[in-house]
This record gives sequence, C-alpha cells and structure tokens, in this order.
Amino acid sequence: MRFSSLLAAGAALSAALLSTVAASPTVMSTIPDHISENVRRELSTLPADQYTIHERDIGHQHKKRAQINGVQNECRGDRCLSITFDDGPYIYSQKLVDTLGNAGNQKATFFVNGNNYRCIYDDASVRALRYAYERGHEICSHTWSHPNIANLNNQQLDRQVQLVEDALWKILGVVPACFRAPFGSIRADQVRYLNDRWGVVVVGWNRDTNDANGAGTQAGLNLYRNLRAPTKAIVLNHETVPGTPNTVIPQAVNIVRQNGYVGSRTTASTLFYNPYKVTGRYGNRDGSWTCAGKPAPGGV
Ligand SMILES: [Zn+2]
Repeated sequence: MRFSSLLAAGAALSAALLSTVAASPTVMSTIPDHISENVRRELSTLPADQYTIHERDIGHQHKKRAQINGVQNECRGDRCLSITFDDGPYIYSQKLVDTLGNAGNQKATFFVNGNNYRCIYDDASVRALRYAYERGHEICSHTWSHPNIANLNNQQLDRQVQLVEDALWKILGVVPACFRAPFGSIRADQVRYLNDRWGVVVVGWNRDTNDANGAGTQAGLNLYRNLRAPTKAIVLNHETVPGTPNTVIPQAVNIVRQNGYVGSRTTASTLFYNPYKVTGRYGNRDGSWTCAGKPAPGGV
C-alpha cells in the first residue's frame, strides 16, 4: 500500500518534471533590455511560468502608462505618507519590520545597498531582506556601494544598478523598478538616464529626519510630531542609525496615526508605480553570492 502510493507520487513527480521541461524558455530578445543582462540571461533559461515581467509604467494616475520621470520627492494621493529607510540591509531591519507590522500593518520602503554597512549576500542580510519582502515592504535600489553617483559616468552608474539588480534577483527573485541616489546627489541627465535606460522611478524625499547627520532622536521625533495630514510626506530615515529603529520609529508609527494618517505605505503605492520589473522565485546560494571582486563601500 505504502509502496504503491510512493510509486504514484513518483509518477506524479515525473509528470511535473516533464511538463516543466516541456515549457519553453523565453527567447532572450523578447526580454526587455532595461533589465540587467545577467538577469535577462537567466530568465531566458527559465520556463516562462516561473517569473513575471511587469509592465514598465503602470501608474494608473498617470496618462496612458506615461513614464514617471524626474525625481519623485512628494507622494501622491490623499493624506499619503511613506516612511523610507536607506543604507540597509543591516542589523535592525527585522526590528523595523516588526515595529511597523505591529502598529496597524504599516509598510515601509527600504532603499538597500549591495555593499555598504554590510554585504548584501551575507546570510544575515539575505534573511533580513526576505523577512521584509515577505511582509509586504518594498525593496528598492540605493546603488551597490553608496558612491556619490553625480561623480560617475554612465558606465559606472550602470554597474551600480546592475549589481543590485543581480543581487535582488538572486536573493528575492525580484528586480527593483525604484532607485534612490546616495546623499540625494544626482545630475539631471542621470535622472533621465535612469528613467529611460533602466526604466526605474527615482525616489527622493520631502522630509528628512537628519538621523544620518547626527540630528538625534528628539529631532526625529519632532519631525514626526509636526507632520500632520493632509501634508504629503516621503520621510527619509536611515536604518543604520541605532536611535532610528530603537527610539524614533517605535513612537513615530503611533504619532503618524494620531496625526491623521492611516500609517506609512510603500512609495510604490503612494506614487503609483510597479515596484518590480520582474518577480520570480528565491534563488539558491552559489559561488556568485559574494561581494568579493565588486566595488567596496564608497568605491566604484
Ligand atoms: Zn544612503
């Protein structure tokens, strides 16, 4: 009895494997070229039912899929608020996710680096990213190594974008369609280039807790206390400054609700864009999951 059901399970498995093999991979030339070359190559080897390529510009508040160009410093919609965290993944990511989730299921946007405070391929970084992603937070690119990109040429900028796309594809099975420049420093021609060449929405902010500039937790808390609906707010925070996850955000998530917001929502949902160019499956660690041979923090 047990044996025959094992056989039946085996037959079902073989059928499933056969049908997977039979599903034809996508032809590389049909995969949009604003996706990293490495990801495109990998997609071309996968059965088409294992990933989804999302429309480039879905902003339903915009004219006919018009691209969202320029730097987006202010969210759209009624009483919108997006709390954003730069420079992770880091040791406080999970704490932030729990804090937001426990305060009315609020959602944040994490602008992450490949190699800044920590290597994105470290086990702890992978766990942190998956923890946030699985709970509905948005993961965007903040460059690979956090250089001042205004000093880079397009080829160097390409590498900063492509390395993060490759990493997030491996780790989360997504390619982000959102980007924030380190220090908010970016040339106008680079904004256009990121929009056109890479199809990403460039997100800025209109409220800065100045946590990265040493402003302290009282300044951060005062910013949130003075922020009242219907003021539209994209708030810059850094998940790497201990006072932010430990003191400011645990209170801020309650303050914003007292001040008339439903709570923080992702920038994709307050700016009306699709956060990912591609969504698929988590990858498995292999020798390519390393920061070795790639730009060191601050480098290019
Ligand atoms: Zn940064």
